[in-house]
Amino acid sequence: MDLTPMLIGGTWRSAVTGVTEDVTSPYDGSVVGNVPVAGPKDVEAALSAAEAGAARWRRTPANERMEILLRAAKLADDRASEIASTISSEVGKTITEATGEASRSGQIIRLAAFEGTQLYGDTLPLDANPGTGPDKIGFTLRQPCGVVVAIAPFNYPALLVLHKVAPALAAGNAVVLKPARTTPLTALALAACFIDAGLPEGVLSVLTGPGGELGDLLVSDPRVRKVSFTGSTAIGERITRMAGVKKLSLELGASCPAIVLPDADLDLAASAIAAGGYVNAGQVCISVQRVIAHPAVSEDFIDALVPKVEAIRVGDPSSPETDMGTLISTGEAERVQQSIAAAAAGGARVLIGGERDGSMVAPTVVADVDPSSPFAQNELFGPAVAVSTATDWESAIAQANGTAYGLAAGIFTSDIAGAVRAIREIDAGSIHINWSPLWRADLMPYGGLKESGIGKEGPRSAVEEMTEVKTVILHGRPW
Ligand code: NAP
Repeated sequence: MDLTPMLIGGTWRSAVTGVTEDVTSPYDGSVVGNVPVAGPKDVEAALSAAEAGAARWRRTPANERMEILLRAAKLADDRASEIASTISSEVGKTITEATGEASRSGQIIRLAAFEGTQLYGDTLPLDANPGTGPDKIGFTLRQPCGVVVAIAPFNYPALLVLHKVAPALAAGNAVVLKPARTTPLTALALAACFIDAGLPEGVLSVLTGPGGELGDLLVSDPRVRKVSFTGSTAIGERITRMAGVKKLSLELGASCPAIVLPDADLDLAASAIAAGGYVNAGQVCISVQRVIAHPAVSEDFIDALVPKVEAIRVGDPSSPETDMGTLISTGEAERVQQSIAAAAAGGARVLIGGERDGSMVAPTVVADVDPSSPFAQNELFGPAVAVSTATDWESAIAQANGTAYGLAAGIFTSDIAGAVRAIREIDAGSIHINWSPLWRADLMPYGGLKESGIGKEGPRSAVEEMTEVKTVILHGRPW
Protein backbone atom coordinates (compact mmCIF):
# COMPACT_ATOMS: atom_id res chain seq x y z
CA MET A 1 0.00 0.00 0.00
CA ASP A 2 1.42 3.43 -0.97
CA LEU A 3 2.28 5.90 1.77
CA THR A 4 -0.19 8.75 2.33
CA PRO A 5 2.16 11.48 3.59
CA MET A 6 1.32 13.73 6.53
CA LEU A 7 1.19 17.50 6.28
CA ILE A 8 3.77 19.72 7.93
CA GLY A 9 3.11 23.40 7.40
CA GLY A 10 1.88 22.97 3.83
CA THR A 11 4.35 20.27 2.72
CA TRP A 12 3.28 16.62 2.34
CA ARG A 13 6.01 14.61 4.07
CA SER A 14 7.16 11.37 5.68
CA ALA A 15 8.18 11.27 9.33
CA VAL A 16 11.77 12.36 10.02
CA THR A 17 12.50 8.80 11.19
CA GLY A 18 10.92 7.35 8.03
CA VAL A 19 8.77 5.01 10.15
CA THR A 20 5.30 4.24 8.78
CA GLU A 21 2.34 2.11 9.86
CA ASP A 22 -0.66 0.52 8.20
CA VAL A 23 -4.24 1.63 8.72
CA THR A 24 -6.49 -1.43 8.75
CA SER A 25 -10.20 -2.11 8.38
CA PRO A 26 -11.78 -3.19 11.67
CA TYR A 27 -14.21 -5.32 9.61
CA ASP A 28 -11.81 -7.70 7.86
CA GLY A 29 -8.32 -6.56 8.86
CA SER A 30 -7.45 -5.54 5.29
CA VAL A 31 -4.89 -2.76 4.87
CA VAL A 32 -6.62 0.44 3.73
CA GLY A 33 -3.65 2.79 3.91
CA ASN A 34 -0.17 3.50 5.20
CA VAL A 35 0.82 6.67 7.06
CA PRO A 36 3.91 8.14 8.72
CA VAL A 37 4.46 7.65 12.45
CA ALA A 38 5.39 11.15 13.59
CA GLY A 39 7.90 11.67 16.40
CA PRO A 40 9.25 14.60 18.44
CA LYS A 41 11.17 16.12 15.49
CA ASP A 42 8.00 16.20 13.40
CA VAL A 43 6.11 17.84 16.29
CA GLU A 44 8.81 20.52 16.44
CA ALA A 45 8.63 21.08 12.67
CA ALA A 46 4.83 21.39 12.76
CA LEU A 47 4.83 23.82 15.71
CA SER A 48 7.53 26.01 14.29
CA ALA A 49 5.73 26.12 10.91
CA ALA A 50 2.50 26.93 12.76
CA GLU A 51 4.12 29.80 14.65
CA ALA A 52 5.19 31.39 11.35
CA GLY A 53 1.87 30.47 9.70
CA ALA A 54 -0.15 32.04 12.52
CA ALA A 55 1.72 35.35 12.14
CA ARG A 56 0.96 35.38 8.43
CA TRP A 57 -2.65 34.16 8.59
CA ARG A 58 -3.79 36.66 11.24
CA ARG A 59 -2.74 39.46 8.85
CA THR A 60 -4.79 37.93 6.02
CA PRO A 61 -8.10 39.84 5.79
CA ALA A 62 -11.17 37.90 6.91
CA ASN A 63 -12.71 38.16 3.44
CA GLU A 64 -9.68 36.42 1.90
CA ARG A 65 -9.74 33.72 4.58
CA MET A 66 -13.41 33.19 3.81
CA GLU A 67 -12.76 32.82 0.06
CA ILE A 68 -10.16 30.11 0.68
CA LEU A 69 -12.49 28.26 3.06
CA LEU A 70 -15.38 28.45 0.60
CA ARG A 71 -13.14 26.88 -2.05
CA ALA A 72 -12.20 24.15 0.45
CA ALA A 73 -15.92 23.54 1.13
CA LYS A 74 -16.57 23.07 -2.57
CA LEU A 75 -13.69 20.58 -2.81
CA ALA A 76 -15.07 18.70 0.23
CA ASP A 77 -18.46 18.53 -1.55
CA ASP A 78 -16.83 17.31 -4.79
CA ARG A 79 -14.80 14.65 -2.93
CA ALA A 80 -17.59 13.54 -0.55
CA SER A 81 -18.07 10.06 -1.96
CA GLU A 82 -14.31 9.30 -1.90
CA ILE A 83 -14.13 10.63 1.68
CA ALA A 84 -17.17 8.49 2.63
CA SER A 85 -15.40 5.33 1.41
CA THR A 86 -12.33 6.25 3.46
CA ILE A 87 -14.45 6.82 6.59
CA SER A 88 -16.27 3.53 6.14
CA SER A 89 -13.04 1.57 5.58
CA GLU A 90 -11.07 2.93 8.50
CA VAL A 91 -13.91 3.19 11.08
CA GLY A 92 -15.99 0.14 10.08
CA LYS A 93 -19.00 2.48 9.89
CA THR A 94 -21.68 1.64 7.33
CA ILE A 95 -21.30 3.30 3.95
CA THR A 96 -24.74 4.86 4.45
CA GLU A 97 -23.68 6.55 7.70
CA ALA A 98 -20.26 7.44 6.27
CA THR A 99 -21.92 9.08 3.25
CA GLY A 100 -24.13 11.11 5.60
CA GLU A 101 -21.08 12.21 7.58
CA ALA A 102 -18.94 13.10 4.55
CA SER A 103 -21.78 15.06 2.95
CA ARG A 104 -21.91 17.42 5.96
CA SER A 105 -18.25 18.44 5.53
CA GLY A 106 -18.75 21.25 3.01
CA GLN A 107 -21.56 22.78 5.06
CA ILE A 108 -19.49 22.82 8.28
CA ILE A 109 -16.68 24.61 6.45
CA ARG A 110 -19.16 27.14 4.96
CA LEU A 111 -20.75 27.85 8.35
CA ALA A 112 -17.31 28.37 9.86
CA ALA A 113 -16.18 30.55 6.94
CA PHE A 114 -19.14 32.86 7.56
CA GLU A 115 -18.58 33.00 11.34
CA GLY A 116 -14.95 33.98 10.71
CA THR A 117 -16.24 37.17 9.09
CA GLN A 118 -18.34 38.04 12.15
CA LEU A 119 -15.65 38.96 14.68
CA TYR A 120 -17.61 41.86 16.14
CA GLY A 121 -16.64 43.73 19.30
CA ASP A 122 -18.42 46.13 21.68
CA THR A 123 -18.16 49.85 22.23
CA LEU A 124 -17.64 50.65 25.90
CA PRO A 125 -19.62 53.46 27.60
CA LEU A 126 -16.52 54.63 29.49
CA ASP A 127 -18.05 57.95 30.50
CA ALA A 128 -20.48 56.03 32.74
CA ASN A 129 -17.43 55.51 34.99
CA PRO A 130 -17.32 58.29 37.66
CA GLY A 131 -14.60 60.80 36.76
CA THR A 132 -14.27 59.69 33.11
CA GLY A 133 -15.36 62.11 30.42
CA PRO A 134 -16.24 61.86 26.71
CA ASP A 135 -12.57 62.39 25.78
CA LYS A 136 -12.00 58.65 25.93
CA ILE A 137 -13.31 56.02 23.54
CA GLY A 138 -13.23 52.33 24.42
CA PHE A 139 -14.02 49.24 22.40
CA THR A 140 -13.17 45.57 22.21
CA LEU A 141 -11.43 43.76 19.37
CA ARG A 142 -11.41 40.01 18.75
CA GLN A 143 -8.20 38.44 17.50
CA PRO A 144 -7.15 34.85 16.77
CA CYS A 145 -5.56 32.84 19.58
CA GLY A 146 -2.48 32.05 17.43
CA VAL A 147 -1.50 28.38 17.30
CA VAL A 148 -4.35 25.93 17.95
CA VAL A 149 -3.70 22.25 18.64
CA ALA A 150 -6.70 20.14 17.60
CA ILE A 151 -6.90 16.53 18.78
CA ALA A 152 -9.74 14.38 17.44
CA PRO A 153 -11.22 10.94 18.20
CA PHE A 154 -11.94 8.07 15.80
CA ASN A 155 -15.72 7.90 15.82
CA TYR A 156 -16.58 10.82 13.48
CA PRO A 157 -13.24 11.36 11.73
CA ALA A 158 -14.63 13.99 9.32
CA LEU A 159 -17.17 15.89 11.45
CA LEU A 160 -15.11 16.15 14.61
CA VAL A 161 -11.97 17.17 12.73
CA LEU A 162 -13.86 19.85 10.80
CA HIS A 163 -15.65 21.22 13.88
CA LYS A 164 -12.16 22.16 15.09
CA VAL A 165 -10.11 22.90 11.98
CA ALA A 166 -12.67 24.96 10.05
CA PRO A 167 -13.56 27.48 12.81
CA ALA A 168 -9.91 27.73 13.90
CA LEU A 169 -8.82 28.62 10.34
CA ALA A 170 -11.80 30.88 9.74
CA ALA A 171 -10.92 32.86 12.86
CA GLY A 172 -7.31 33.34 11.66
CA ASN A 173 -5.44 30.69 13.66
CA ALA A 174 -2.80 28.22 12.51
CA VAL A 175 -3.72 24.62 13.36
CA VAL A 176 -1.75 21.50 14.20
CA LEU A 177 -4.16 18.58 13.96
CA LYS A 178 -3.60 15.16 15.55
CA PRO A 179 -6.31 12.79 14.32
CA ALA A 180 -6.94 9.43 16.00
CA ARG A 181 -4.33 6.83 15.16
CA THR A 182 -6.99 4.50 13.75
CA THR A 183 -8.51 7.12 11.40
CA PRO A 184 -5.77 9.35 9.93
CA LEU A 185 -6.76 8.93 6.26
CA THR A 186 -10.00 10.91 6.52
CA ALA A 187 -8.19 13.77 8.24
CA LEU A 188 -5.50 13.83 5.54
CA ALA A 189 -8.15 13.81 2.77
CA LEU A 190 -9.88 16.79 4.39
CA ALA A 191 -6.59 18.64 4.90
CA ALA A 192 -5.97 18.23 1.16
CA CYS A 193 -9.20 20.19 0.50
CA PHE A 194 -7.80 23.18 2.42
CA ILE A 195 -4.35 22.98 0.82
CA ASP A 196 -5.78 22.58 -2.70
CA ALA A 197 -8.03 25.57 -1.97
CA GLY A 198 -4.95 27.75 -1.49
CA LEU A 199 -4.35 27.78 2.27
CA PRO A 200 -0.93 29.44 2.74
CA GLU A 201 2.21 27.67 3.91
CA GLY A 202 2.44 26.95 7.63
CA VAL A 203 -1.23 27.43 8.47
CA LEU A 204 -2.24 23.76 8.70
CA SER A 205 -0.31 20.67 9.77
CA VAL A 206 -1.61 17.13 10.30
CA LEU A 207 0.57 14.84 12.38
CA THR A 208 -0.22 11.13 12.17
CA GLY A 209 1.00 8.83 14.93
CA PRO A 210 0.47 7.86 18.56
CA GLY A 211 -1.40 10.37 20.73
CA GLY A 212 0.24 8.92 23.82
CA GLU A 213 3.64 10.12 22.56
CA LEU A 214 2.76 13.22 20.53
CA GLY A 215 -0.02 14.54 22.79
CA ASP A 216 2.04 15.75 25.75
CA LEU A 217 4.55 17.48 23.46
CA LEU A 218 1.78 19.27 21.59
CA VAL A 219 -0.43 20.37 24.47
CA SER A 220 2.37 21.49 26.78
CA ASP A 221 4.26 23.59 24.21
CA PRO A 222 4.28 27.30 25.15
CA ARG A 223 3.84 28.36 21.49
CA VAL A 224 0.36 26.82 21.60
CA ARG A 225 -2.34 29.14 22.94
CA LYS A 226 -5.40 26.94 22.53
CA VAL A 227 -6.04 23.21 22.74
CA SER A 228 -9.28 21.83 21.33
CA PHE A 229 -9.68 18.18 22.31
CA THR A 230 -12.44 15.63 21.70
CA GLY A 231 -12.01 12.21 23.25
CA SER A 232 -12.23 10.31 26.51
CA THR A 233 -12.55 12.01 29.89
CA ALA A 234 -9.34 10.31 31.12
CA ILE A 235 -7.23 11.92 28.36
CA GLY A 236 -9.10 15.20 28.73
CA GLU A 237 -8.11 15.25 32.41
CA ARG A 238 -4.51 14.53 31.49
CA ILE A 239 -4.54 17.47 29.06
CA THR A 240 -5.78 19.82 31.81
CA ARG A 241 -2.75 18.83 33.87
CA MET A 242 -0.23 19.07 31.01
CA ALA A 243 -1.41 22.19 29.19
CA GLY A 244 -0.42 25.01 31.56
CA VAL A 245 -1.84 28.48 30.91
CA LYS A 246 -3.83 27.93 27.72
CA LYS A 247 -7.40 28.12 26.52
CA LEU A 248 -8.98 24.66 26.57
CA SER A 249 -12.06 23.20 24.92
CA LEU A 250 -12.73 19.64 26.00
CA GLU A 251 -15.49 17.49 24.48
CA LEU A 252 -15.39 14.31 26.57
CA GLY A 253 -17.23 11.15 27.51
CA ALA A 254 -20.88 10.54 28.39
CA SER A 255 -23.57 8.11 29.52
CA CYS A 256 -26.61 9.80 28.01
CA PRO A 257 -30.10 9.16 29.41
CA ALA A 258 -33.52 9.09 27.76
CA ILE A 259 -36.53 9.35 30.12
CA VAL A 260 -39.80 7.72 29.03
CA LEU A 261 -42.84 8.92 30.99
CA PRO A 262 -46.34 7.40 31.24
CA ASP A 263 -47.78 10.04 28.88
CA ALA A 264 -45.08 9.45 26.21
CA ASP A 265 -45.74 8.34 22.65
CA LEU A 266 -44.14 4.91 23.16
CA ASP A 267 -43.76 4.10 19.48
CA LEU A 268 -41.94 7.39 18.88
CA ALA A 269 -39.73 6.76 21.91
CA ALA A 270 -38.94 3.21 20.77
CA SER A 271 -38.12 4.33 17.20
CA ALA A 272 -35.90 7.20 18.36
CA ILE A 273 -34.06 5.01 20.88
CA ALA A 274 -33.69 2.11 18.41
CA ALA A 275 -31.81 4.58 16.23
CA GLY A 276 -30.12 6.64 18.95
CA GLY A 277 -28.56 3.69 20.78
CA TYR A 278 -27.07 1.95 17.75
CA VAL A 279 -25.86 4.54 15.22
CA ASN A 280 -22.16 3.90 14.51
CA ALA A 281 -22.48 0.75 16.67
CA GLY A 282 -23.17 2.96 19.70
CA GLN A 283 -19.80 4.71 19.34
CA VAL A 284 -21.26 8.19 19.57
CA CYS A 285 -20.74 10.45 22.56
CA ILE A 286 -24.48 11.35 22.48
CA SER A 287 -25.62 7.73 22.04
CA VAL A 288 -28.55 6.64 24.25
CA GLN A 289 -26.92 4.53 26.92
CA ARG A 290 -29.59 4.61 29.64
CA VAL A 291 -33.37 4.51 29.31
CA ILE A 292 -35.21 5.54 32.47
CA ALA A 293 -38.82 4.39 32.04
CA HIS A 294 -41.85 4.80 34.31
CA PRO A 295 -42.92 1.36 35.64
CA ALA A 296 -46.43 1.88 34.21
CA VAL A 297 -45.03 1.86 30.63
CA SER A 298 -41.70 0.14 31.00
CA GLU A 299 -42.81 -3.29 29.68
CA ASP A 300 -44.84 -1.77 26.81
CA PHE A 301 -41.87 0.39 25.87
CA ILE A 302 -39.56 -2.66 25.88
CA ASP A 303 -42.09 -4.58 23.76
CA ALA A 304 -41.99 -1.75 21.22
CA LEU A 305 -38.19 -1.39 21.34
CA VAL A 306 -36.99 -4.99 21.05
CA PRO A 307 -38.40 -5.78 17.56
CA LYS A 308 -36.96 -2.54 16.21
CA VAL A 309 -33.52 -3.43 17.59
CA GLU A 310 -33.90 -6.98 16.31
CA ALA A 311 -34.44 -5.54 12.81
CA ILE A 312 -31.03 -3.81 12.74
CA ARG A 313 -28.96 -5.60 10.06
CA VAL A 314 -25.34 -6.05 11.15
CA GLY A 315 -22.61 -6.88 8.65
CA ASP A 316 -20.26 -5.66 5.96
CA PRO A 317 -19.97 -1.87 6.39
CA SER A 318 -19.44 -1.36 2.65
CA SER A 319 -22.88 -2.82 1.80
CA PRO A 320 -25.79 -0.39 1.49
CA GLU A 321 -27.98 -3.19 2.98
CA THR A 322 -26.11 -3.01 6.32
CA ASP A 323 -27.53 -0.89 9.16
CA MET A 324 -24.72 -1.35 11.69
CA GLY A 325 -21.03 -2.07 11.17
CA THR A 326 -18.19 -2.93 13.51
CA LEU A 327 -16.64 -1.39 16.58
CA ILE A 328 -13.29 0.27 16.00
CA SER A 329 -11.37 -2.87 17.02
CA THR A 330 -11.82 -6.42 18.26
CA GLY A 331 -10.43 -5.28 21.61
CA GLU A 332 -13.17 -2.67 21.94
CA ALA A 333 -15.80 -5.26 20.96
CA GLU A 334 -14.47 -7.59 23.67
CA ARG A 335 -14.65 -4.78 26.24
CA VAL A 336 -18.28 -4.03 25.35
CA GLN A 337 -19.24 -7.72 25.38
CA GLN A 338 -17.63 -8.13 28.82
CA SER A 339 -19.54 -5.09 30.17
CA ILE A 340 -22.83 -6.64 29.00
CA ALA A 341 -21.89 -9.99 30.55
CA ALA A 342 -20.97 -8.28 33.84
CA ALA A 343 -24.36 -6.48 33.90
CA ALA A 344 -26.10 -9.84 33.39
CA ALA A 345 -24.03 -11.43 36.13
CA GLY A 346 -25.12 -8.57 38.39
CA GLY A 347 -28.84 -9.38 37.89
CA ALA A 348 -29.78 -7.44 34.73
CA ARG A 349 -31.78 -9.24 31.98
CA VAL A 350 -30.24 -9.36 28.46
CA LEU A 351 -33.38 -9.28 26.28
CA ILE A 352 -31.62 -9.39 22.96
CA GLY A 353 -28.01 -9.35 21.74
CA GLY A 354 -24.90 -9.60 23.90
CA GLU A 355 -23.02 -11.78 21.38
CA ARG A 356 -19.79 -10.84 19.62
CA ASP A 357 -18.27 -11.89 16.31
CA GLY A 358 -14.78 -10.43 15.91
CA SER A 359 -15.16 -6.66 16.02
CA MET A 360 -18.99 -6.83 15.78
CA VAL A 361 -21.28 -6.81 18.81
CA ALA A 362 -24.95 -7.64 18.26
CA PRO A 363 -27.39 -4.80 19.02
CA THR A 364 -28.30 -5.36 22.67
CA VAL A 365 -31.11 -4.38 25.05
CA VAL A 366 -30.60 -4.98 28.77
CA ALA A 367 -33.47 -4.53 31.26
CA ASP A 368 -33.58 -4.25 35.08
CA VAL A 369 -30.25 -2.43 35.11
CA ASP A 370 -29.19 -1.06 38.49
CA PRO A 371 -28.66 2.69 37.85
CA SER A 372 -25.67 2.69 40.18
CA SER A 373 -23.96 -0.25 38.40
CA PRO A 374 -20.87 0.24 36.20
CA PHE A 375 -23.03 -0.63 33.16
CA ALA A 376 -25.04 2.56 33.69
CA GLN A 377 -22.36 4.72 35.27
CA ASN A 378 -19.37 4.17 32.96
CA GLU A 379 -19.39 5.18 29.32
CA LEU A 380 -20.13 2.02 27.26
CA PHE A 381 -19.41 3.32 23.72
CA GLY A 382 -21.05 0.25 22.22
CA PRO A 383 -24.38 -0.93 20.75
CA ALA A 384 -26.37 -1.60 23.95
CA VAL A 385 -29.14 0.25 25.78
CA ALA A 386 -29.71 -0.23 29.51
CA VAL A 387 -33.30 0.08 30.75
CA SER A 388 -34.14 0.88 34.37
CA THR A 389 -37.24 2.36 36.02
CA ALA A 390 -38.13 5.47 38.05
CA THR A 391 -41.51 6.00 39.68
CA ASP A 392 -41.81 9.81 39.53
CA TRP A 393 -40.28 12.98 38.05
CA GLU A 394 -38.13 13.52 41.11
CA SER A 395 -36.42 10.13 40.87
CA ALA A 396 -36.26 10.14 37.03
CA ILE A 397 -34.40 13.46 37.08
CA ALA A 398 -32.14 12.30 39.92
CA GLN A 399 -31.32 9.15 37.94
CA ALA A 400 -30.68 11.13 34.73
CA ASN A 401 -28.29 13.36 36.69
CA GLY A 402 -26.82 10.46 38.63
CA THR A 403 -23.58 9.90 36.70
CA ALA A 404 -20.38 11.92 36.47
CA TYR A 405 -21.35 13.00 32.94
CA GLY A 406 -23.70 15.61 31.48
CA LEU A 407 -23.52 15.69 27.68
CA ALA A 408 -27.09 15.26 26.37
CA ALA A 409 -30.47 13.91 27.47
CA GLY A 410 -33.86 13.09 25.94
CA ILE A 411 -37.31 13.19 27.57
CA PHE A 412 -40.39 11.58 26.02
CA THR A 413 -43.59 13.12 27.42
CA SER A 414 -46.71 15.01 26.35
CA ASP A 415 -46.70 17.01 29.60
CA ILE A 416 -45.34 20.50 28.86
CA ALA A 417 -44.98 21.41 32.52
CA GLY A 418 -42.93 18.29 33.15
CA ALA A 419 -40.80 18.96 30.08
CA VAL A 420 -40.05 22.47 31.33
CA ARG A 421 -39.04 21.06 34.69
CA ALA A 422 -36.72 18.54 33.02
CA ILE A 423 -35.16 21.28 30.88
CA ARG A 424 -34.43 23.27 34.02
CA GLU A 425 -33.23 20.45 36.24
CA ILE A 426 -31.32 18.00 34.03
CA ASP A 427 -27.65 18.92 33.92
CA ALA A 428 -26.73 18.22 30.30
CA GLY A 429 -25.30 20.31 27.48
CA SER A 430 -28.27 19.50 25.17
CA ILE A 431 -31.82 18.51 26.15
CA HIS A 432 -34.22 17.02 23.61
CA ILE A 433 -37.95 16.93 24.24
CA ASN A 434 -39.56 14.01 22.39
CA TRP A 435 -36.35 12.84 20.80
CA SER A 436 -33.31 10.91 21.94
CA PRO A 437 -30.04 12.67 22.86
CA LEU A 438 -28.58 11.53 19.55
CA TRP A 439 -29.36 14.55 17.42
CA ARG A 440 -27.12 17.39 16.27
CA ALA A 441 -27.36 20.26 13.82
CA ASP A 442 -23.88 21.47 12.93
CA LEU A 443 -24.72 25.11 13.63
CA MET A 444 -25.90 24.58 17.22
CA PRO A 445 -23.78 25.06 20.34
CA TYR A 446 -22.63 21.60 21.34
CA GLY A 447 -20.69 20.48 24.40
CA GLY A 448 -21.11 18.88 27.79
CA LEU A 449 -21.41 19.80 31.44
CA LYS A 450 -19.74 18.07 34.40
CA GLU A 451 -17.14 15.46 33.31
CA SER A 452 -18.43 15.64 29.75
CA GLY A 453 -16.26 18.67 29.20
CA ILE A 454 -15.62 22.37 29.03
CA GLY A 455 -16.69 24.78 26.30
CA LYS A 456 -18.88 24.51 23.23
CA GLU A 457 -18.36 23.59 19.58
CA GLY A 458 -20.61 24.53 16.66
CA PRO A 459 -19.08 27.13 14.31
CA ARG A 460 -20.29 30.28 16.11
CA SER A 461 -19.27 29.01 19.57
CA ALA A 462 -15.99 27.57 18.30
CA VAL A 463 -14.98 30.82 16.58
CA GLU A 464 -15.67 32.63 19.85
CA GLU A 465 -13.56 30.11 21.79
CA MET A 466 -10.75 30.30 19.21
CA THR A 467 -10.44 34.07 19.47
CA GLU A 468 -9.45 36.39 22.32
CA VAL A 469 -10.77 39.77 23.31
CA LYS A 470 -8.59 42.86 23.56
CA THR A 471 -9.91 46.01 25.22
CA VAL A 472 -8.74 49.23 23.51
CA ILE A 473 -8.96 52.74 24.97
CA LEU A 474 -8.27 55.90 22.95
CA HIS A 475 -7.22 58.60 25.43
CA GLY A 476 -8.11 62.00 23.97
CA ARG A 477 -7.89 65.30 25.86
CA PRO A 478 -10.77 67.10 27.56
CA TRP A 479 -11.93 69.99 25.37
P1 NAP B 1 -9.30 8.82 23.11
O1 NAP B 1 -8.69 7.48 23.28
O2 NAP B 1 -9.41 9.71 24.29
O3 NAP B 1 -8.46 9.53 21.95
C1 NAP B 1 -8.82 10.79 21.45
C2 NAP B 1 -7.63 11.44 20.81
O4 NAP B 1 -6.65 11.73 21.82
C3 NAP B 1 -6.91 10.56 19.78
O5 NAP B 1 -6.44 11.35 18.72
C4 NAP B 1 -5.73 10.02 20.59
O6 NAP B 1 -4.65 9.63 19.80
C5 NAP B 1 -5.38 11.24 21.40
N1 NAP B 1 -4.53 10.98 22.57
C6 NAP B 1 -4.20 9.80 23.14
N2 NAP B 1 -3.38 10.02 24.19
C7 NAP B 1 -3.20 11.36 24.30
C8 NAP B 1 -2.48 12.20 25.19
N3 NAP B 1 -1.76 11.71 26.22
N4 NAP B 1 -2.52 13.53 24.99
C9 NAP B 1 -3.24 14.05 23.99
N5 NAP B 1 -3.95 13.31 23.11
C10 NAP B 1 -3.94 11.97 23.27
O7 NAP B 1 -10.78 8.71 22.50
P2 NAP B 1 -11.30 7.82 21.32
O8 NAP B 1 -11.32 6.40 21.76
O9 NAP B 1 -10.61 8.18 20.05
O10 NAP B 1 -12.82 8.37 21.21
C11 NAP B 1 -13.82 7.95 22.06
C12 NAP B 1 -14.05 8.96 23.18
O11 NAP B 1 -14.30 10.24 22.63
C13 NAP B 1 -15.29 8.62 23.99
O12 NAP B 1 -15.01 8.83 25.35
C14 NAP B 1 -16.32 9.61 23.50
O13 NAP B 1 -17.36 9.93 24.39
C15 NAP B 1 -15.46 10.80 23.23
N6 NAP B 1 -16.14 11.71 22.32
C16 NAP B 1 -16.70 12.84 22.83
C17 NAP B 1 -17.41 13.71 22.00
C18 NAP B 1 -18.07 14.96 22.54
O14 NAP B 1 -18.48 15.79 21.74
N7 NAP B 1 -18.20 15.12 23.85
C19 NAP B 1 -17.52 13.40 20.64
C20 NAP B 1 -16.94 12.22 20.17
C21 NAP B 1 -16.24 11.38 21.00
P3 NAP B 1 -4.44 8.06 19.43
O15 NAP B 1 -5.64 7.65 18.65
O16 NAP B 1 -3.19 8.08 18.65
O17 NAP B 1 -4.32 7.32 20.74
